[in-house]
Amino acid sequence: MQLVAVKKKNFNDYRRFMEQDTMFELDFLVDKLKGKKIAMINATAYGGGVAEKLHSLVPLMQDMGVDIDWWTILGNEEFYNVTKRFHNCLQGQEGELSGSEMEIYLKYNQINASYMKDWHYDFIVIHDPQPAALIEWRGKECHEKWIWRCHIDTSFPNQEYWDFLYHYIAQYDAVIFTMPDYVKEGAAFKNITFITPSIDPLSLKNISLDKEEARAITSRFGVDAGRPLISQVSRFDPWKDPLGVIDAYKIVKKDFPSVQLALVGSMASDDPEGWDYLYRTLRRAGEDYDIKVVTNFNGISDLEVNAFQTASDIILQKSLREGFGLTVAESLWKGTPVIGGNVGGIKLQIEDGVTGYLVNTVEECAEKVLTLLRNPVLAEEMREAAREKVRKEFLVTKNIQHYLRLFYNLSSPEQALP
Ligand code: UDP
Repeated sequence: MQLVAVKKKNFNDYRRFMEQDTMFELDFLVDKLKGKKIAMINATAYGGGVAEKLHSLVPLMQDMGVDIDWWTILGNEEFYNVTKRFHNCLQGQEGELSGSEMEIYLKYNQINASYMKDWHYDFIVIHDPQPAALIEWRGKECHEKWIWRCHIDTSFPNQEYWDFLYHYIAQYDAVIFTMPDYVKEGAAFKNITFITPSIDPLSLKNISLDKEEARAITSRFGVDAGRPLISQVSRFDPWKDPLGVIDAYKIVKKDFPSVQLALVGSMASDDPEGWDYLYRTLRRAGEDYDIKVVTNFNGISDLEVNAFQTASDIILQKSLREGFGLTVAESLWKGTPVIGGNVGGIKLQIEDGVTGYLVNTVEECAEKVLTLLRNPVLAEEMREAAREKVRKEFLVTKNIQHYLRLFYNLSSPEQALP
């Protein structure tokens, strides 16, 4: 197992986003947790949403005075191939769990568990399925509390994979899911807490950008700053429905010819499915040069994502299925109304008619885009509500509050906070 070095962050910089009550509670919790040691464990320090969140969460907690370390497990290709399958099957993909998959999964968990022999932590938080079986090697006399944090949607998992994993996760002292819908029916856990993912308001992706500056950046990708822009920032994946986005745009275009569409997506070089879907998307876009398809291969990185989310008149997240949809919180935080698929975590973030719209079909999506394009005043009214929603519920400071509250409640159940 490897200790992750994080870049220092200053918690005081984040106080301006928080209410007085929250600050009091955080100060109280940090004080109560003095002397307690916490370990976060996940599969990787770079790539993926979990790592990104821990890079904010861990240094901020350290700066608050919380004694917290972040470890990543050791693995290699055979292990990651198996855990990728676990990930997909726990989200419902069909397939049979083979003996060799179980063996590989347990072999690496056991190797990693051997690093924990002389550990002295009070709380061990394990993220996602990859290291979930570490608990099998927990010492007999252990006093620490084990918490499993599930970042994926396990509401309808493949039964075989679920049964296998359930043996391990049922041993945890507490489990965290993103929302109640994601807990498989019939699962009996000791303690269930719900915590939504969060965004870091001071990261390059979310820091406040001037609209003009944002437009200057999007114009480098061929966007005409003088005309309306709608964008979706997402991987090229059927569940993100980029084809549906293009279809909705085409309906809008008939009534609102000046509109432009940007599809902004990151491509992993080792993800053939992503490339296939990008080509399908390009075919659907055809010869319409008002559709811009841009990726990390032509210069999209955090600042550019920020710029598209800031400069767009409307952001779409027309997913057909969505764990949480960080892009929604990111866009709402920039005050941009979001029209999103009426699914999963998007439903937690968009207040229909207040911070954007929830839609079920391409036609409905087009209709709501037209409503907002024709009513800039309405879009402007949504701006404040959108930002406020994220400030109250989806900033990293809220995430920290949830974690500290859970640690406190587990260590002082008789004085547990609600
Ligand atoms: N993202 C990015 N560049 C892109 C497309 C997406 O950095 O070209 C980021 C996006 O800003 C968000 C994350 O990737 O932070 C995607 O998270 P989300 O929860 O929306 O979807 P997921 O890809 O995890 O299903």
